[in-house]
Amino acid sequence: MKKPARVFSEVIKHLFKKPATIAYPFEKAHIFPNFRGRIDFDSSKCIGCQMCVRVCPSKAIEIPTSEHQPPAPAQVEGQPAVAAKKKFDCIMKLDHCVYCAQCVEICPKKALIMTQDYELAQTDKAKLRRHYK
Ligand code: SF4
Ligand code: SF4
Repeated sequence: MKKPARVFSEVIKHLFKKPATIAYPFEKAHIFPNFRGRIDFDSSKCIGCQMCVRVCPSKAIEIPTSEHQPPAPAQVEGQPAVAAKKKFDCIMKLDHCVYCAQCVEICPKKALIMTQDYELAQTDKAKLRRHYK
């Protein structure tokens, strides 16, 4: 058992110490640069290779062909026809994601990135399914 003088000195010491916790949500947390937050998707870079879908351990990603395909470029006479670049969407199930970053690492076009967004709590589960176009 600690002596009263020792307890008193401990109390005084801790009164002037910086708290170990923060007053979240009134105070924002300090996020480190390599923090693994919500995944973001850049459709202009995606080539639809499905490597992210295959590597994801929790089946959190779908890469469907987008409804909004860009128009084929105008054909120049005497030149071979150029196929229009296909456009892909990304459906991210944030309630399945375990933030392992395997999809980000395997993407050959850097179309997926991890943001620093960690405020993802929802009461409506449907809002955790994000459709990036
Ligand atoms: S971070 Fe991991 S769990 Fe989340 S979508 Fe990417 S591969 Fe899947
Ligand atoms: S790995 Fe990258 S390029 Fe391939 S489908 Fe996924 S997001 Fe698109």
